[in-house]
Amino acid sequence: MRNEPLCLVQEPARATPVRAEVDVLVVGAGPAGVIAAMAAAEGGLSVALVEGRSFVGGNLTIGLPVLGFLSQKGKPIIAGLPQKFIDRLKVEHAASEHRPCPLHVSLTLVEPEAVKSVAMEMLRECGVDVMLYSMFTDVVMDGDRIRGVLIESKAGREAILARVVVDCTGDADVAVRAGVPCEKGDEQGGMQPPTLMFCMVGVDTEKLRRCLRNAPETYRVDFIPPAYFGQNDRFIVVGLRQQIQAAQAAGLVIATERTILITGLRQGDVWVNMTRVKGVDGTNPRSLAVGETEARRQISDIVRYLIEYVPGFEQAHFSKAAPFLGIRETRRIVGRYVMTRDDVLSCRRFDDAIAVASYPIDLHRPDDNDCTLEWCGDCYDIPYRSLLPGGVMNLLVAGRCISTTHEAMAAIRVMSTCMATGEAAGRAAAMAVRGEGLPARIDVAVLRAELVARGGYLRGLSPD
Ligand SMILES: Cc1cc2nc3c(=O)[nH]c(=O)nc-3n(C[C@H](O)[C@H](O)[C@H](O)COP(=O)(O)OP(=O)(O)OC[C@H]3O[C@@H](n4cnc5c(N)ncnc54)[C@H](O)[C@@H]3O)c2cc1C
Repeated sequence: MRNEPLCLVQEPARATPVRAEVDVLVVGAGPAGVIAAMAAAEGGLSVALVEGRSFVGGNLTIGLPVLGFLSQKGKPIIAGLPQKFIDRLKVEHAASEHRPCPLHVSLTLVEPEAVKSVAMEMLRECGVDVMLYSMFTDVVMDGDRIRGVLIESKAGREAILARVVVDCTGDADVAVRAGVPCEKGDEQGGMQPPTLMFCMVGVDTEKLRRCLRNAPETYRVDFIPPAYFGQNDRFIVVGLRQQIQAAQAAGLVIATERTILITGLRQGDVWVNMTRVKGVDGTNPRSLAVGETEARRQISDIVRYLIEYVPGFEQAHFSKAAPFLGIRETRRIVGRYVMTRDDVLSCRRFDDAIAVASYPIDLHRPDDNDCTLEWCGDCYDIPYRSLLPGGVMNLLVAGRCISTTHEAMAAIRVMSTCMATGEAAGRAAAMAVRGEGLPARIDVAVLRAELVARGGYLRGLSPD
């Protein structure tokens, strides 16, 4: 769906009020942005965090578990501030342990509402100026530097001036406006389809896991052995393809081949990851509206399917949809290094590694209703250069829109890795502010040492 204008209208030149002037400005308060802002503010710099929605947390608030805190060999590889955040959630009984999973490496369940309040509380403690209901719309450039950004809110258009900007919008909104080259999707522009998550309550999850364990020929699960369900009372199920086929044959419209269910922290809650709308462009509001509407329309048949075909759902009912359509993929910056599928699958190490990841390539294919999964067997590094756009000197990028190929993005997109790149970007931004204001010129060895000194994990520097 195109987003071409009808025609152009000339706006009169205007003087825009400056709402704030800060050392570091983070745009987008998802997993990457929340952690980036905390990291940048730790040393006492002035930090603002701009968020378009009414709450912080991004996709941490749509009923998803955080995947990838552990490596494929079961070792904790995401530590530092992301772990501190999980520890604070645990105090509120709003996060689980990191649970190994044969398919998803590890899952950490979080309570969406608690994410919003705990993240806000931690940001407040760090002194971050959190600006909610404020949409980033454009940049004010001064040569090859961003002098500030423009935001739009109920107060109209305002500017925020900053020495270093960190783009954590997931969509590379700041980078693209600043002229950074970006790519979208695969070679044909195809992007992983979005999903509107929703929650079922009153599910007999004990019955579900009993059936998965005891009747694996009837209830076939992808990759996870039946015994796993005997040992784990919180889990993700991916599979039950035959049940979907039977429901489709009976006339239900289901746009995915796989049943994907995630038990919630509260007994009987199950989050459902099964709506799927192909062809949505998450950077185009018209396309987003079509996607949101279509995904919402799909829910009723999926609910019927669950109640009629999946054990444990007989007495369950629909409780709520997530607050927004979950977007898996849009723009990625073309930065100083573009991470590739081969880097992931060869467990590549980088001298400028700022995070370690282990999550497989998990690509919901743009053109059909299935998924490609590829594991590397161990860990791979994320290089600092993938956070650095060429051309714009005082900009860093963290989260799912760092510099990768379509395939590598399908691995680094999980929220633990996004938080780790957020921490690295926040600390790098603070170092740059204390120096020449240029993230590309900081001493990466010092950044790496600081990440480890503050509790982070990097291969070769952290104790193994
Ligand atoms: C359906 C689905 C299932 C997934 N499953 C899992 C899973 O089980 N586990 C897992 O770990 N990961 C999962 N992922 C991937 C993961 O959720 C994302 O890749 C990750 O959240 C990206 O983090 P981020 O901080 O880069 O962006 P986001 O989480 O998207 O956060 C970006 C934030 O920036 C804000 N923002 C964007 N543009 C602007 C703007 N112009 N102005 C102001 N604010 C702005 C947004 O409102 C949002 O709060 C899934 C993703 C989807 C969509």
